[in-house]
Amino acid sequence: MSDVGTARVDVVLVGAGIMSATLGALLCLLEPDWSITIIERLDAVGAESSGPWNNAGTGHSALCELNYTPQRADGSIDITKAVTINEQFQVTRQFWAYALARGVLTDRGFVNPVPHVSFVQGARRVDYLRRRRAALAGNPLFERTEFIDDPDEFARRLPLMAAGRDFSEPIALNWAADGTDVDFGSLSKQLVDFCVRTGATMLFGHDVRNATRQSDGSWTLAIRDRRTGEKRSLNTKFVFLGAGGDTLPLLQRSGIKEAKGFAGFPIGGRFLRADAPALTAAHRAKVYGVPAPGAPPLGALHLDLRFVDGKSWLVFGPYAGWSPKFLKHGRVSDLPRSIRGDNVLSMLGVGLTELTLVNYLIGQLRLTHADRVRALREFAPGAVDSDWQLTTAGQRVQVIRRDRRRGGVLEFGTTVVGSADGSTAGMLGGSPGASTAVPIMLDVLQRCFSNRYQSWLPMLKEMVPSLGAKLSDEPALFDEVWSWGSKMLKLGVS
Ligand SMILES: Cc1cc2nc3c(=O)[nH]c(=O)nc-3n(C[C@H](O)[C@H](O)[C@H](O)COP(=O)(O)OP(=O)(O)OC[C@H]3O[C@@H](n4cnc5c(N)ncnc54)[C@H](O)[C@@H]3O)c2cc1C
Repeated sequence: MSDVGTARVDVVLVGAGIMSATLGALLCLLEPDWSITIIERLDAVGAESSGPWNNAGTGHSALCELNYTPQRADGSIDITKAVTINEQFQVTRQFWAYALARGVLTDRGFVNPVPHVSFVQGARRVDYLRRRRAALAGNPLFERTEFIDDPDEFARRLPLMAAGRDFSEPIALNWAADGTDVDFGSLSKQLVDFCVRTGATMLFGHDVRNATRQSDGSWTLAIRDRRTGEKRSLNTKFVFLGAGGDTLPLLQRSGIKEAKGFAGFPIGGRFLRADAPALTAAHRAKVYGVPAPGAPPLGALHLDLRFVDGKSWLVFGPYAGWSPKFLKHGRVSDLPRSIRGDNVLSMLGVGLTELTLVNYLIGQLRLTHADRVRALREFAPGAVDSDWQLTTAGQRVQVIRRDRRRGGVLEFGTTVVGSADGSTAGMLGGSPGASTAVPIMLDVLQRCFSNRYQSWLPMLKEMVPSLGAKLSDEPALFDEVWSWGSKMLKLGVS
């Protein structure tokens, strides 16, 4: 670990998760002469939500997640959200390919091809899935999917899910062969390594306590060494708060008016996990079901093949957990301390309108191991309790935003909140999350460095050739960037 060495730097990135790591790598590529310091309270990169066991590792591109394609009142399927998410993932995928080609990333093992599959049971849902596929089929980003309702083909593709299944009820799959499993922890480490190789300073075990605006528009950060208790300060022209769940409290303490009215609601995740070779050999896909009533978006149960440190695992969940902490390694005082005069009405508004979510969470907290394995048997009918262990994943702090009519609304997306002059920005919310880190950080660059962004554009277009274009409308460009990305990332269909 190196010393800060200077009391003033060009850029400070708070937190060493996938968001800061991505922004750091982009800035190191664009402005290699800038002084950049990354400050992380823990002793490792990607040890909170970005760690492989703290998230589901899905390269979210809306190929299989049914919450992105709701049915409208008139029965038609709304694909707007699915197309947006997929477009965002294409941006991320292109940057990863560029980063490998340029030696920014040195190990392509962080991303692996794993089919993304939607799974439904019952005639009504089979019909929905068929219409969903038809609605997406005209879009080049979703063209290569297959609809499967034949039990024999189901059994050939998903032996673990077919064993012991009663096929008298109709079933269907939507099969996208080119999905991915991503170890965002490994990716974050590689990106931070690149920043350090380019000259950035990485401070582990240091907590950023506060950010105070100076009269010249810069920010002074109060930092505490968690081992020695020593306090220090660091001045910077630009600070990015990539502190995961801790971003909201830091934004609140910074005093910027843009953060007023925001509040956060933490929801934890738990998964069942198994590594028996007989199980991992019989299930080679990520299979997403239909979200349960009241479940938050991305709360749909899924049975996933995962790759972590070169080993195959099966993971099933998520089951919701609850704790007032904003980070897995946070404090129980996080939620109460985040309640302020400017957001108390937003929180009360949500408390009164989100009763279905509250009921869902209470139901989740009451589940026993046997209940969880019973839910797993909807996917893998032959599941045995002793093969599966419960793990606790990361905390997602959902954004509560002020709303004139209802007091406050709970949102499940991602929001970048920053000062109007662009000297600070922080990322709130957690869905679809790490998969969209690159477009979110490009947005931060555009908002916070508006005077430089134009001059960066030629280089940014090298990194993301489709930047500014909508690939859904440009099939030839999509084919080109897709093939190049697949080659660089070695993402031939598994
Ligand atoms: C259960 C679950 C499942 C998920 N599944 C997926 C998925 O399948 N696909 C997907 O794309 N996304 C998924 N996500 C979302 C994804 O994990 C997050 O969006 C992403 O990891 C957030 O990255 P981050 O860098 O913002 O935060 P984090 O990875 O949480 O990093 C924040 C860092 O800041 C540090 N920090 C905090 N406060 C301070 C401070 N004051 N000073 C210094 N350092 C500080 C923390 O220690 C931490 O290392 C999931 C999330 C959860 C919880």
